[in-house]
Amino acid sequence: MHEHAPGPRPDRRTFLAAAGLGALAAGARAAAGAAPGATGVIRLAHLTDIHVQPERGAEAGMAAAFAHAQSWKPDLVVTGGDSVMDVFEAKRGRADELRRIFRDTLRRECSVPVHHVTGNHDIFGWNRGKSGTAGTEADWGKRFACDLFGVPRTWHSFDHGAWRFVCLDSVQPKGDGYTAFLDDEQHDWLVRLLAETPAERPICVVSHVPIMSLTAITYGKPRPREQNGTDTIINLAEMHTDATVLHELFKSSGKVRLCLSGHTHLVDHCRIDGVAYVCDGAVSGAWWRGSVQGIAPGYGRVELRPDGSFVHEYATYGWAARD
Ligand SMILES: [Zn+2]
Repeated sequence: MHEHAPGPRPDRRTFLAAAGLGALAAGARAAAGAAPGATGVIRLAHLTDIHVQPERGAEAGMAAAFAHAQSWKPDLVVTGGDSVMDVFEAKRGRADELRRIFRDTLRRECSVPVHHVTGNHDIFGWNRGKSGTAGTEADWGKRFACDLFGVPRTWHSFDHGAWRFVCLDSVQPKGDGYTAFLDDEQHDWLVRLLAETPAERPICVVSHVPIMSLTAITYGKPRPREQNGTDTIINLAEMHTDATVLHELFKSSGKVRLCLSGHTHLVDHCRIDGVAYVCDGAVSGAWWRGSVQGIAPGYGRVELRPDGSFVHEYATYGWAARD
């Protein structure tokens, strides 16, 4: 178990979620025992669910998270989506302000290569009623996310060292809201990409909404006992609806080693059929109001080895909630 490493005892909730499923906890990084670059180890900082906003010192919080992450000397940063606090329902002026804060803060505070994943909160105006949008605006919908991140489309792949990284766009429209799956164009692209990837090149997939995660079940309040006897409920849009299809694709390819996600703001590790699924908390914690179900504001540190193994830890950066 390359990924397993001793560390401080996590809290009970996290421990239960992680039991027997792989590495967790501060201190795991020490187990890697390799200087970055010297042996082809890639250090990836995964900062998801930043939810930057003018309130509660979030801009300073984002800066603190990037400073903390870069003190670890990562080779690259991936933001995992929901980088701004809800342009899905925001009016024009608010959306413009959030975009400016994110872009300015990123430009000022991030000095390593960065790739972006799109989250539901990065999509402008899909709730037309609340946002007051017509749908004809030049930056409506996912075009806002492309502008926010300076990219031509909301999914892409790239290679770094021995690894291939696949940044997926989970979010699809559903009425005035959204759900999570890959549309046909993206799905076909992913199938081709996995087929074309050499067998010796391990793949790390990053999506905003978890493809598979126990947090999709544990998020929120426990279900009332009266519901016992009915099907286990996965909260709406907390997990990909095409999870079984994607997992089968990853399993049969034999190349996908790690899938990182955010969205639920919780942390878990699931390992099945040689694929690890890690949900990686939130930079904003409880949307800048502290911890969510015991998970403090933080981000993922992943050391990826050329042989396809990796070490992951969830690093907190000491952020205290402000009024
Ligand atoms: Zn989200």
